[in-house]
Amino acid sequence: MDGDMTTSANVQPRGLLAVFAHPDDESYGAGGVMALAAAAGNPVWVLCATNGDQGGRPGEVDVDHSLDPEIRRHELTCACAAIGAAEPIFLGYRDSGMEGWGAPEGAFSLAPHEEAVERVAAVIRRLRPAVIVTFDPGGVYGHPDHTTCSSVATDAYRRTAAEPGGPVALYHQAMPQSAIKAMQAGMEEERRKSGDSTPPTEDDIRQQEAFVKLARPDADITTVIDIRPVLERKFAALACHESQMQGRQWDDAETREQMERMFSRETFVRVDPAPKAGLHEDRFVALQWDRK
Ligand SMILES: [Zn+2]
Repeated sequence: MDGDMTTSANVQPRGLLAVFAHPDDESYGAGGVMALAAAAGNPVWVLCATNGDQGGRPGEVDVDHSLDPEIRRHELTCACAAIGAAEPIFLGYRDSGMEGWGAPEGAFSLAPHEEAVERVAAVIRRLRPAVIVTFDPGGVYGHPDHTTCSSVATDAYRRTAAEPGGPVALYHQAMPQSAIKAMQAGMEEERRKSGDSTPPTEDDIRQQEAFVKLARPDADITTVIDIRPVLERKFAALACHESQMQGRQWDDAETREQMERMFSRETFVRVDPAPKAGLHEDRFVALQWDRK
């Protein structure tokens, strides 16, 4: 085994590893940059911490949210194919469910931190990616698995970056305050137009409040990626996650237009290499962007 270690330490790190908590997180947050990276010839991988088995229809506390984990594993495999990523890798933790649902035994948010960090680090040592992307510390809306994912993946990055052949860049996917405001205005308009008068559920309200609270000031965002060249791939990846769509249809012109507005850019904070004040970049560092 020593021989293997020496060989892999000599390998130049290459490609992009996305570490997220549930099937569908990858497509919403970084599906576009992954598709762009894959199209430019970089290897791309998705590491998913849970099976997403508590991803049932959001509703009230005390409702059964459990799903057959195979459904969501299958949906992620479909999304990875749409993005141009390799087959997904799962850590197999159970989904913690939303705050207030009560995390089941084996849930990711209950896993010992060191154990989870070492499991992610082992995947990094095996694949040798150059760049890691994960959630920012607030996990976009504070889902316990998202915040756990951010701290676990960030620590796994720091540990392996210090080793020979380790990754060289870390990005956090983050939503700027301006995007949250635009998204909520769009959703409100959609509700009004559709004449939907059902009041939002407690979970919906909590999630909306968390989005606002955890959004980053626009000035924190270092990296804004125009993903319009691969928008169809991102939409195809999102469509793979059928169990999470709540019957939403995106095929009418108006919804499409709104989706294009909402999803044509992906936003990140570069964590490492530490950015100089005022850095604005439109690509991840350390990847190949011109197809050879
Ligand atoms: Zn999630």
